[in-house]
Amino acid sequence: MDGIHLRRKIGIIGGGITGLIVGIFLAKEGFKVTIYEKNKLLAQTSSKTTKLLHGGLRYLENLHFNEVKNGLNDRFWWLENFPKHTSKLKISIPFKSIYSIAFLKSFLGIKLYEILAGSKNIGSSNILKLHKDDVSILKNEYNTMLSFFDGSMDDISLGSELIQSARDLNIDLLENTEVTDFERNGIIDGCKFDKIILAVGPWSKILLEQNNIESQRDIDFIKGSHLIIDRKITSGLMFSSICKSRYIFALPYNGATLLGTTEEKVKHPDDAKISRIEIDYLIDSFNQILKKPISVSEIISSYSGVRPLIKSNDNYHKSSRDFYIQENKSLLTIFGGKWTTSPSIARKIVTMI
Ligand SMILES: Cc1cc2nc3c(=O)[nH]c(=O)nc-3n(C[C@H](O)[C@H](O)[C@H](O)COP(=O)(O)OP(=O)(O)OC[C@H]3O[C@@H](n4cnc5c(N)ncnc54)[C@H](O)[C@@H]3O)c2cc1C
Repeated sequence: MDGIHLRRKIGIIGGGITGLIVGIFLAKEGFKVTIYEKNKLLAQTSSKTTKLLHGGLRYLENLHFNEVKNGLNDRFWWLENFPKHTSKLKISIPFKSIYSIAFLKSFLGIKLYEILAGSKNIGSSNILKLHKDDVSILKNEYNTMLSFFDGSMDDISLGSELIQSARDLNIDLLENTEVTDFERNGIIDGCKFDKIILAVGPWSKILLEQNNIESQRDIDFIKGSHLIIDRKITSGLMFSSICKSRYIFALPYNGATLLGTTEEKVKHPDDAKISRIEIDYLIDSFNQILKKPISVSEIISSYSGVRPLIKSNDNYHKSSRDFYIQENKSLLTIFGGKWTTSPSIARKIVTMI
């Protein structure tokens, strides 16, 4: 099989997680792969995540069952194949009362999440009653925690291992190489390939249009920001934001807390800079549940990225994180997706090629 594909050349534009995983899957099938990356590998959207490997519990609210199931399947793939850089993470949702619609909704959602994971479930959910004398970082009025498991990753060490795997598979990794021209017939800046994969995350529609190729999908650019706070927590928390329409995560991160994220529409993928409004929103949301409030002076650092969400309705908070692959002769363009589901994207591309 290797011999059959070895002469077939694949050019991948974009060295984020999608381009890298697609390249690795294709190189394992025997294709000769070249990845063009305008900056450093894995330095854009792929370095700005919440570091979760997940199906996305909250997407169940929008009835995205298939997408969640695929994510749970891929979560298991990461945990199984990269145990050194990934782990199971307990995440708890605090409640003031067990007799509430909010509790019932989360309880049923978590049960469904576990059912969708099937044999790839990674731990059982649990209801924990908190007592007044328990040492807790939460305000006393929170008396119940509903916990479930998801995956988390050290994206830096995981990324390094993936880059090394790509090198071992003889993938040509061209960093600091921006592609300006590509064509449907397989030409990238004058070099001929059998297939081109456009894996440029939020830049996909812009690059297609710059090269006079119609984009079959419209993209919403949704900025998401995180804060790293100088507070130690022992396991993850998930809670409603101050506007109630979203959930925020507070996760253990190198002895501190990773707090995120936000959803703010921006005009361009390069507009990834945290705003004062986002900082206040994250801090105020966390302080709703904390006994000892955090302040701006405890922020160690922050980062922001832009999600390329495929436009599906007017309310981008409800948009799917699913991916779509557009085919124009020898050019395949990837829209959307998550870090977690990059292996699903890669499997689909291998099948298409
Ligand atoms: C705030 C936030 C939180 C998230 N949290 C999670 C999470 O917890 N778990 C999860 O699974 N997913 C999460 N995601 C989603 C995840 O980050 C993305 O789905 C994923 O990183 C997209 O990877 P990508 O390779 O498609 O895009 P990118 O990482 O953006 O890679 C595209 C690459 O293309 C390059 N490029 C662009 N133009 C050119 C050109 N002309 N020539 C050459 N190269 C070019 C860019 O430099 C970039 O490196 C989150 C996203 C955000 C924004």
